[in-house]
Amino acid sequence: MCGIIGYIGDKCAADILISGLSHLEYRGYDSSGVALMHGSEIDIYKASGKLINLIEILKTKKAVTSISNIGIGHIRWATHGLPTTANAHPHTCTCKSLTLVHNGIIENYQELKEDLLKEGCIFRSETDTEIAAHLIASEYGKTLDLLEAMQNAVKKIKGAFAFCAIHKNEPDKIVVAKRNAPLVLGVGNGENYIASDIPAIIEYTKKAIYLSDYQVGVITKNDIKIYDEKGKLIPNKIEYMPFEAMAISKLGYKHFMIKEIHEQSDVVRNNLQGKLIEHNKPIKLDDFKLSSSDIKKLSRIQIIACGTSLHAGLVGKYIIEKYAGIPVDVEASSEYIYRETIADKNTLVIGISQSGETADTITAIKQVKEKKSHIAIITNRADSTMARLADSLIPVNAGIEVSVAATKSYMAQLISLYLLAIYLNEAKGIKEYKEEIARLKQELIELPNKIEALLENTSEIQRVAKKYSSYKNFIYIARGINLATALEGALKLKEISYINATGYGAGELKHGPIAMLDENMPVLAILNTGIVYDKVLSNCEEARARQAKLIGVTNYISEKDRALFDDLIMIPDASDILSPALNIIVLQLLAYYIAEYLGKDVDQPRNLAKSVTVE
Ligand code: GLU
Repeated sequence: MCGIIGYIGDKCAADILISGLSHLEYRGYDSSGVALMHGSEIDIYKASGKLINLIEILKTKKAVTSISNIGIGHIRWATHGLPTTANAHPHTCTCKSLTLVHNGIIENYQELKEDLLKEGCIFRSETDTEIAAHLIASEYGKTLDLLEAMQNAVKKIKGAFAFCAIHKNEPDKIVVAKRNAPLVLGVGNGENYIASDIPAIIEYTKKAIYLSDYQVGVITKNDIKIYDEKGKLIPNKIEYMPFEAMAISKLGYKHFMIKEIHEQSDVVRNNLQGKLIEHNKPIKLDDFKLSSSDIKKLSRIQIIACGTSLHAGLVGKYIIEKYAGIPVDVEASSEYIYRETIADKNTLVIGISQSGETADTITAIKQVKEKKSHIAIITNRADSTMARLADSLIPVNAGIEVSVAATKSYMAQLISLYLLAIYLNEAKGIKEYKEEIARLKQELIELPNKIEALLENTSEIQRVAKKYSSYKNFIYIARGINLATALEGALKLKEISYINATGYGAGELKHGPIAMLDENMPVLAILNTGIVYDKVLSNCEEARARQAKLIGVTNYISEKDRALFDDLIMIPDASDILSPALNIIVLQLLAYYIAEYLGKDVDQPRNLAKSVTVE
């Protein structure tokens, strides 16, 4: 979950490590540390809390840190042990010859620790990671070779890891290994880089080697050698990293989140490009590999995802069932894994993940792969583990999303699902809905302009945010396709303001949640003209009768119904089917302004991490 960075070359390693960590801070940020090697000395600096605390320490040590050209760094998202300085990485073996950073979880750390204690190892932290430092050092004692020691140690480790290790006796190299956690090697000229994610190194090089599971690599200044599970040297496969350094700057906005909310019109344009040309032409999805005859044979679709991606999946269910006539189940990957997997070759499994590294979804995908189902992956990272597991890839082209709370990637996922639903409809040759689909395509083409119109004037949303920012609880209600919007909007509010917000199907209110309503529980209702409009309006009446404050988000309201609401936020006119793409922007902005008004750390909310690479 955390960030790893490594550097070997001629430049000041400390500067590169800190710059790299600052670009990874969005992934996990409870403590950080670096190890700097010079000659056969390794100096370690660590701090709890935000990266700035480590930066302050390093500032005072410039004279000693600037001489090092080899180093490893880490920003932690604690899984084992409190986020203290002692638990921050790097960790060392007993005699401090070996130093290591780790991303992931070592599942069998207890039993490994018992053996290592018997060997006399002295432990200095509560982390699972420290076990790896002792284990590799113990293997080093037998082989006197860091590469072999790493190869032997990883065979004994169960769980997920990306490791970066250095040793005082081998001061010219960094040894790395990975399993179920991302690690990329940046290829430079007379220098090389290591990172858990591209933003850390994109400003230095665009050439990358993606390490695969079970591989171990030795990185020196001028060379990268990668060995497979059996220890055989394999040829380096250099790829080009698809991002610009620009993408990781705030461009004048106060937070990445608000910048990314404002990028959504372009995200829609990018995602339609080349796929939806005109309202009367079929959708093109070049990387969707199922033939029309295979699509016609599909008996079911399963969408597996987590968090925000799961909510996109719920919108997907609605539109795919409607336009493609195929039953769709949507399930959290973490639940999907631990029960009977009923899928076969006539099942299409769609995995959705912003990062493409979500551990729960990767495990679920690997599991269902054995059932011979076709796997389609919707991800923002075409270079990710999930993309590599895919039979069909639907890249969502949202650009790097830095804010932990997902906004533009959700929009991109929605657009991909609209396109996929229409694609499946057209591949099956379904005549029903032909005109409605032509209208939907035209509306998709016009969507970026509507998003821009919505974003041009946010003063009403800001006013409402301020008015309600002191409430401790909210209920969000909607029905039909916007139920997902209510769930996602409530999640946004929880994530960044820590206010308890829960999304419900509006019809479910009377089956329980209504008991909580009074003047202290505002209800936010999403109504869009369509088949459930009047029903949601009635549910609003029920809430009103319990004295709840009512906020409406809608594309239309009659004069007589206006009085029902304490506050109303209007969206540009939209069909019910496409309204989730506009309604969600209102809810993203509402969450953003409430959190900002409360002075919360919007881009890096507590306890969360951008890419959840542990199960
Ligand atoms: N499990 C390790 C720890 O708790 C690594 C966590 C991470 O990936 O940041 O220190």
